[in-house]
Amino acid sequence: VFVCFEGGEGSGKSTQSRLLRAWLEEQGHRVVLTFEPGDTPVGRRLREIVLAPETGALADRTEALLYAADKAEHVETLVLPALERGEVVVTDRYVDSTLAYQGAGRRLPVAEVEQVARWATGDLRPHLTVVLDLEPAAGLGRFEGRDRIEGESLEFHQRVRESFVAMAATDPEHYLVLDARAPVEEVAAAVQARLVPLLEA
Ligand code: C5P
Repeated sequence: VFVCFEGGEGSGKSTQSRLLRAWLEEQGHRVVLTFEPGDTPVGRRLREIVLAPETGALADRTEALLYAADKAEHVETLVLPALERGEVVVTDRYVDSTLAYQGAGRRLPVAEVEQVARWATGDLRPHLTVVLDLEPAAGLGRFEGRDRIEGESLEFHQRVRESFVAMAATDPEHYLVLDARAPVEEVAAAVQARLVPLLEA
């Protein structure tokens, strides 16, 4: 089973993915918890290039391709092997982040960005994507200035948010949208409830 958390800055993805791992392990599952960008040796270097404030301006297509390279490495070396071992993979960000940030955020043609991302990942899709929905102004305050992207305008982050919610709306079978302002335990319980049938399948 492949589960993905998506959402804007400060929406609680890493907290929720850790809680989910703990719960899955309690249920007796083996779990690989991972993230994008940067959870492989090459990915760490790509993340540094794409996110360090010192990078300065980066062409939008360069950015999209660096994220795609990170994804390719992530899927081939971490995600697929774990799924093949029968483990549950929980990832903090995946293809939808690229569609939201490089597509909606940077305004690159989403269909083109999607083609690149699908190619990079061999079109491997999560069984469930949990979108932690949060108004950007509420989330950004938590990490001011840490990464290049956080310096983007509120409108940029607004487009990103809307993009996540719109993707979820087109495919309710594979998405769960939750209000990120809800208590942490409440969000975790909603994710768990939604996963039970998937884990039994
Ligand atoms: O989730 P995490 O905080 O590790 O993401 C690092 C940064 O990369 C975030 O600021 C996020 O907005 C940005 N990002 C991006 N495009 C992606 C994935 C992440 O701009 N496809």
